[in-house]
Amino acid sequence: MGRTVVVLGGGISGLAASYHLSRAPCPPKVVLVEASERLGGWIRSVRGPGGAIFELGPRGIRPAGALGARTLLLVSELGLDSEVLPVRGDHPAAKNRFLYVGGALHALPSGLRGLFRPSPPFSKPLFWAGLRELTAPRGKDPDETVHSFAQRRLGPEVASLAMDSLCRGVFAGNSRELSVRSCFPSLFQAEQTHRSVLLGLLLGAGQSPQPDSALISQARAERWSQWSLRGGLETLPQALNTHLTSRGVRILRGQPVCGLSLQADRRWKVSLGDSSLDADHVISAVPASVLGKLLPAEAAPLARALSAITAVSVAVVNLQYRGARLPVQGFGHLVPSSEDPGVLGIVYDSVAFPEQDGSPPGLRVTVMLGGSWLQTLEARGAVLSPELLQQQAQEAAATQLGLKEPPSHCLVHLHKNCIPQYTLGHWQKLEAATQFLASQRLPLTLAGASYEGVAVNDCIESGRQAAAWVLGSEPDS
Ligand SMILES: Cc1cc2nc3c(=O)[nH]c(=O)nc-3n(C[C@H](O)[C@H](O)[C@H](O)COP(=O)(O)OP(=O)(O)OC[C@H]3O[C@@H](n4cnc5c(N)ncnc54)[C@H](O)[C@@H]3O)c2cc1C
Repeated sequence: MGRTVVVLGGGISGLAASYHLSRAPCPPKVVLVEASERLGGWIRSVRGPGGAIFELGPRGIRPAGALGARTLLLVSELGLDSEVLPVRGDHPAAKNRFLYVGGALHALPSGLRGLFRPSPPFSKPLFWAGLRELTAPRGKDPDETVHSFAQRRLGPEVASLAMDSLCRGVFAGNSRELSVRSCFPSLFQAEQTHRSVLLGLLLGAGQSPQPDSALISQARAERWSQWSLRGGLETLPQALNTHLTSRGVRILRGQPVCGLSLQADRRWKVSLGDSSLDADHVISAVPASVLGKLLPAEAAPLARALSAITAVSVAVVNLQYRGARLPVQGFGHLVPSSEDPGVLGIVYDSVAFPEQDGSPPGLRVTVMLGGSWLQTLEARGAVLSPELLQQQAQEAAATQLGLKEPPSHCLVHLHKNCIPQYTLGHWQKLEAATQFLASQRLPLTLAGASYEGVAVNDCIESGRQAAAWVLGSEPDS
């Protein structure tokens, strides 16, 4: 009888793991178990008035690098090429990003020449930060916060304005708590190997082998900065679902896994409340803290390491305005914590993907709320009503973008614990988990946003690697 692999969690990581398992020459029996009635996890696209698309989670995927190329390969394998909406390199959404500082929007310099010009809110041209970086000595610690790393190498202004904002934009997190080694491994590695991040990025670029396809070549030739899908990014998990079903993968929805126990024959019993599944191997693609609670007592050291990987909440407020215009054209802007502790940034969805504006078209922006403002309210047990979040978002859109008229359409979602936080020492938690799994020879593999990257590309790669591990082959590069 063939092996049975049970995949926990039907977000993009669990779907990707199931996809790669199902395509093996001799695939095992695969059962994907998802707690909710929907697949896709945080990837969720909603249609609004006139067919406009509102993304409640991710809204753009980067094509760069080997992982970006692999995701495009997946898109092609699923037959979605004609659905891709690219943001080409010469488009304003590819070239222009802004910081909102001191009550004004400031364009971040783009291109080499921009580095030599004065670029407020920075007091000096960024060339000087680059010069400091090239001459700064190599750090000695095995890990460091993003803030401390940036301050040491690029100076206090870049640390407290640019890197602070970047951490809020990507992780909804605090640069003074997040680990540079785990959040920005390419920067950390560049310093380790070449002493300077700039040198490392320049000398190390283009080294990893990448897959190729017509879509990947097009993305390279047109220098795409990101892409989406015509019907929204949720089209990707939906297409994976169709593919998996056609390959005989059993998909159980509305079935929260409530426990894992190891039987005498070292097979898992996956408990689903009223029923259970037997598995030769389990791939966990649920958040680390969720898995921590499912593990049996004999895996307590693993459960401890996993439970220490926390996550933060984000309120996503999608707004649409009729007949309104933005003061600038670009991807969007970020807001450093010193400017506003609650508004992480605003994405100008209509600039990047006007095809999703609906008919008649209306300007779509998304306000992301989080940071210390939300954490404090959550810690106090305050009621975070949709009205309060909508009011905060509308005020931000009015103050920061001049969108003073009431929106014609608004969606408010508070995503609890949606972005894992790779805080200082995250690598030690991963090492403890990996060592425990290896020493106990547990038939369990970890995948998902909790471990080595939160972007959709990272999650898909984590699923691919988990499948390759289970199938007994080294993942191909
Ligand atoms: C607001 C927001 C904006 C983002 N923007 C971007 C972006 O623009 N670009 C980008 O690349 N990335 C972005 N990301 C990050 C990316 O979307 C996520 O990291 C990624 O989707 C996580 O996928 P996952 O499968 O690892 O986890 P999840 O999506 O969390 O999936 C886990 C699944 O497990 C299920 N589950 C939980 N407990 C159980 C249980 N007990 N039993 C069974 N199932 C269970 C859940 O229901 C869920 O479906 C964004 C994330 C958020 C939240």
